[in-house]
Amino acid sequence: MSHELEDLLKTFEKKGINRRHFFKLMAAAGLVTAVGIYKAKEFSSNAKGKIVIIGGGAAGISMAARLNDWLDEPDITLIDPSDRHFYQPGFTLIASGVYQPDEVWRKQEDCMPSGIKWIKDSVAAIDPNKNQVATKNNGKIAYDFLVLTPGLQTNWEKVEGITQATLGEGNAHSIYDFEGAQKTWKALQEFSKTGGKAIYTDTYTKHKCGGAPKKICLLTDDYTRKQETRDKADLHYYTASKELYDIPFFTPRLLKIYEERNIPINLNVRVKGVDTAAKQVHFEKIETVGEQKVYTPFIEDYDFLHFTPPMSAPDFVREAGLGWTEGKLAADAWVMVDKETLVHKTYPNIVSLGDVAGIPTSKTSAAVRKQVPIAAKNLISLMEGKEPEEKYDGYAACPIVTDYGHVLLCEFNYKKEPEISFPFNLIDTSKEQRAAWWLKVHILKPMYFYGMLNGFA
Ligand SMILES: Cc1cc2nc3c(=O)[nH]c(=O)nc-3n(C[C@H](O)[C@H](O)[C@H](O)COP(=O)(O)OP(=O)(O)OC[C@H]3O[C@@H](n4cnc5c(N)ncnc54)[C@H](O)[C@@H]3O)c2cc1C
Repeated sequence: MSHELEDLLKTFEKKGINRRHFFKLMAAAGLVTAVGIYKAKEFSSNAKGKIVIIGGGAAGISMAARLNDWLDEPDITLIDPSDRHFYQPGFTLIASGVYQPDEVWRKQEDCMPSGIKWIKDSVAAIDPNKNQVATKNNGKIAYDFLVLTPGLQTNWEKVEGITQATLGEGNAHSIYDFEGAQKTWKALQEFSKTGGKAIYTDTYTKHKCGGAPKKICLLTDDYTRKQETRDKADLHYYTASKELYDIPFFTPRLLKIYEERNIPINLNVRVKGVDTAAKQVHFEKIETVGEQKVYTPFIEDYDFLHFTPPMSAPDFVREAGLGWTEGKLAADAWVMVDKETLVHKTYPNIVSLGDVAGIPTSKTSAAVRKQVPIAAKNLISLMEGKEPEEKYDGYAACPIVTDYGHVLLCEFNYKKEPEISFPFNLIDTSKEQRAAWWLKVHILKPMYFYGMLNGFA
């Protein structure tokens, strides 16, 4: 599949047109408003202080770019061990054959904003009382202000019988991994020939892109239809939640799609383990009887499995005592920030955003896009000795790909109300739309690499 916009941008780049001219091109194409790109409130500050950013993913690089632009004399150190920067929303599209693997990553060095000091290393510990970070190979690094954006930790080993290295064995797959997404695409094509029973699961912890397991399920359905083998495929969706989706504006249509496609939904079920040799999933049904939770184990055979691993904040975040100590977000140590300002509740020189943040919204790069200007502005206020005043309303988006050509564009906020971006508010986004597919496949990735990572919201 050709991605015309990106090809065009690459051609411009080869001709020496600066990446920052992207927005002028987008504007010319009438797309700036379409995707809501803008440099939120241009301003500058002469605030001073040493900023350390942990993690150079969607949130870390975008914060580095934004702070670099806004501070007159930025002093920013970013710590991240990766060679490659992945556009993770593309993993679903690799797993369904829409993207090639090489389309979703760039060299990390090419994503790093100029002027940022990059330490290519992992953080092993944080001492928030001493304002100090310990790295694996570069000793201790002091900070005045910390941006905590290491993303989340994928706990593969919490599914018995599975390791990241053995993904694909016994036809048990997960798109929450770059290699895993590639193996899923091969397996999906094979499954469309052989048919059989396919099982799709999410997990009981908060996980990034809650829509991803649903998307790969619906794409399998559509792919087998296109191959005219759908009658040989028996698809089942299992969720650990009490409902398929919890944003009321979008849920009815999503439920209807599953019904129309003949995919039964099983609620309140979590995966305990996978016997890849026997091709069996070990489940546990969780029911509440009176005050008690009752756990009933059961086993299902499968021919193709897509599972979602449990996720948590990275261990070093938990060990630093930066996670929530009470409430639903405590078990997995999601960072204890104020859900509006994104400033840490105990340590006011720390901001945290992205997947690691303990806030009650979806873990998506769409959410990161809205969090970055708020967290950056608030951090600068703290550096200036002022109160943080910018407020995040919980905006997140999850484009649920419902078939090859349509997307249910779920955009919402903390109140679980729809918060639809222009011009999608002109169409009925309670239903899947072709325009949203075009956005998902052709626009969001260049917008991510050329826009968001360059400090544009
Ligand atoms: C299959 C899949 C589908 C998705 N689909 C969508 C979608 O459709 N729409 C959407 O908006 N979002 C989607 N997402 C979610 C999106 O990719 C994430 O929400 C986003 O990347 C979060 O950004 P982040 O910066 O918090 O974390 P990441 O982008 O994961 O970056 C974390 C960074 O921290 C670094 N790091 C980790 N540990 C350390 C350490 N100890 N020291 C230093 N650095 C460290 C890592 O190397 C990495 O560079 C999807 C994700 C997946 C996996």
